[in-house]
Amino acid sequence: MVPCCTLLSRSVITELDESDALDEGLTPGGEIVSEELIVQVIPQAADEFTCYSCFLVRHRSQVARESNGHSYCIECEG
Ligand SMILES: [Zn+2]
Repeated sequence: MVPCCTLLSRSVITELDESDALDEGLTPGGEIVSEELIVQVIPQAADEFTCYSCFLVRHRSQVARESNGHSYCIECEG
């Protein structure tokens, strides 16, 4: 007897494993990538910024504070 929910959770786990494999492909040798390097890799449009606190790329309209050349999003600034 195989409940349908068991099949569902298995497929979800498979998707997670695949995304993990993709992430590992970006860091050969399993080296620890510093947060600064990750920021440089993120493609950033002219109307977007990278929050210096959570390092997520957000739209310019979500800038809550800018200091020392770094931007912080509304979620981090609360
Ligand atoms: Zn943030």
